[in-house]
Amino acid sequence: MKLILLGAPGAGKGTVAKLLTKLDGSVQISTGDILRGAVAAGSELGKKAEAAMKAGDLVSDDLIMGIMGERLKQDDCKAGYLLDGFPRTIPQAEALKVLLESMGEKLDCAVEIDVARDVILDRLTTRRTCTGCGEIYNVKSNPPKQEGICDKCGEPVVQRDDETEEAISNRLNVYNEQTAPLVDFYKKEGMLLSVQATSSDAVIDAIKNKLGI
Ligand code: ADP
Ligand code: ZN
Repeated sequence: MKLILLGAPGAGKGTVAKLLTKLDGSVQISTGDILRGAVAAGSELGKKAEAAMKAGDLVSDDLIMGIMGERLKQDDCKAGYLLDGFPRTIPQAEALKVLLESMGEKLDCAVEIDVARDVILDRLTTRRTCTGCGEIYNVKSNPPKQEGICDKCGEPVVQRDDETEEAISNRLNVYNEQTAPLVDFYKKEGMLLSVQATSSDAVIDAIKNKLGI
């Protein structure tokens, strides 16, 4: 399957994407993970992205399209992909449309994962992320077995730099201003699947239903 996952920070795009990869071998492509990897590695890309990320602002469309133009051409994408955190602005969505047309590819749909703001705020402040493999934990509902250590890979599990209260509130505003308009964009394209996300399983079921799998 080839899907876009839309939703505010903390809506559960990453969790849903990981569950979907197990269904049919599609790959999860998270621009956030790619950028965090670049920052950790200290690469040129990382240096360009770091300040915007830390403040909870968006990285430039040009930088993102450069990354995704390369990424979508890699071999593993033939099995399908779940775009997690991309596109995030109208110019990115338009550029993606042109890119896919030039590659002769078509997406199945754009899934809007809709979650109430108070749920999101609570989730983001209690979320912890593995610095090794990106596994997501929650200090209240899903802590690692050993505090601060990833169950899967043993690397440190930490609060992300952009998960301070100030950065979170900025990320939510940025989402409302720059990314929420994509819901209408994909509605007009006839590609939107909107799901009230009561649980990640409910989202998976709605997607399976829509795709007939
Ligand atoms: P979130 O949990 O907020 O959805 P992500 O892990 O997707 O976070 O992204 C983290 C940060 O990386 C964003 O706040 C932004 O700075 C940057 N980023 C990720 N994807 C994009 C994108 N498609 N366009 C611009 N910036 C992006
Ligand atoms: Zn890990």
